[in-house]
Amino acid sequence: MTLLADLFIDGMWRPGGGGERFDVIDPSDLSVITRFAAATEDDCMAAVDAAAEAQTSWAATAPRERGELLRAAYDVLTEEVERFAEIIVRENGKSWSDAIGEANYAKEFFRWFAEEAVRIPGEYRLSPAGDKRIVVDRQPIGVSLLITPWNFPAAMATRKLAPALAAGCTTILKPARETPLTAAYMVEVLRRVGLPSGVVNLVTPVPTAAPVAKMINRPEVRKLSFTGSTEVGRDLLHVCADSVVSASMELGGNAPLIVLPGADMDVTVEGTLLAKMRNGGAACTAANRVYVHSSRHDEFVERLTAELAALSVGPGLDRSRQVGALVSIAERDKVAALVETAVSEGATLVHGGKSAEQGAFYDVTLLTDVRHGSGITRTEIFGPVVTVVRYDDVDEAVRMANDTVYGLMAYVFGEEREAMAVAGRLDAGMVAVNRGVVSDPAAPFGGVKQSGLGREGGSDGILEFLEEKYIALTAH
Ligand code: ADP
Repeated sequence: MTLLADLFIDGMWRPGGGGERFDVIDPSDLSVITRFAAATEDDCMAAVDAAAEAQTSWAATAPRERGELLRAAYDVLTEEVERFAEIIVRENGKSWSDAIGEANYAKEFFRWFAEEAVRIPGEYRLSPAGDKRIVVDRQPIGVSLLITPWNFPAAMATRKLAPALAAGCTTILKPARETPLTAAYMVEVLRRVGLPSGVVNLVTPVPTAAPVAKMINRPEVRKLSFTGSTEVGRDLLHVCADSVVSASMELGGNAPLIVLPGADMDVTVEGTLLAKMRNGGAACTAANRVYVHSSRHDEFVERLTAELAALSVGPGLDRSRQVGALVSIAERDKVAALVETAVSEGATLVHGGKSAEQGAFYDVTLLTDVRHGSGITRTEIFGPVVTVVRYDDVDEAVRMANDTVYGLMAYVFGEEREAMAVAGRLDAGMVAVNRGVVSDPAAPFGGVKQSGLGREGGSDGILEFLEEKYIALTAH
């Protein structure tokens, strides 16, 4: 399959101005898939110029027309879903079912926001004093810079592109350097369905930080939407402060999963597998710490171990494998080091615990006797490792669950009323009750505390790309 590996600026594919390229690696065998164009600072400035030039006419394009372009992109991605998934697998390494799952989730954002584009709300009302009409209009915020990570190279991009385009904003997409090919493919789909020049641009600056800061500080750029680590998000918030740019941030997570005494064990084990092993654990929503009530601990560990033993780890293009590779050897080694330290601190290795000889694979792994507060319960693992902490008292489990600077996702398994009561006490932007996955384009995705600012998807997602304008009319 031919893979686009250039920059997309002002409606044209072209190499970077400096002629440099960087390797895109297949993590399953470390082969070089292709070499992608590296953007210079000038290329990034040209992308901002193109987006700024297109902003007025795109904002003036009828919402229905914007929506129909998004819908057309959804239709193409539906028709080409296998090709879409294959690109994701090749550069990210995830399993085939994870890639198909991501491709389906990703394209749904185009459909959802195609429907939202024509439903942007406004207001018209009388002031309390009766002297004027208060008109509240919502206008596109302006040129938007969208920065995405490698763990969901498709969905993290469409979750930003779709609402931005629906709102009438022009965009510059900066994918992670590990996974630019999925981004390039989706941008090409938008071009094929007829998105006007300049409305979406794609850059991959090398190095990253300085050109990104320069783009953010261009006066035309009014929005940064970022998904990635809390550390980088914090740095980018500082950059945004310089020119008071609106920032939406989807940052790290450290999701607790609580198994209550009344949990249905079939539902709990199945849900835990999904919450942990989906995407090989490389998800900011992945269950990072599993708190199991003493009365259910041994049964849970035994059943989960049996399920883990049945999972096969291997290349994503081999459709019989349930768990794929991590994105790089560096990521794999990070996971291995976390497990090693946990074991040296007293955790028991029940299953797995090894890196493969070839490729960026790590065993599905289960650790028990993990101490709450140890390194592995404080760090986003981002790999297929379950860590089990035993507890005796539900209040204590809630306290431990909330004992983190993060607050993205939490899971609770138990008798429904008790689980709902616990869900209400957890400091998280999202809580799954008796299920392992929550993500849905129609629901607000986002975190509290250091997991981020703002929400994506749902009916809030588009508001992040709109600015309210109040117009006062004298009442007659
Ligand atoms: P992760 O490793 O979890 O994907 P990162 O925060 O490292 O998280 O990366 C997320 C995105 O942010 C990627 O597109 C990456 O290239 C980009 N990025 C990393 N460092 C910087 C930086 N200093 N300035 C701007 N963008 C950055």
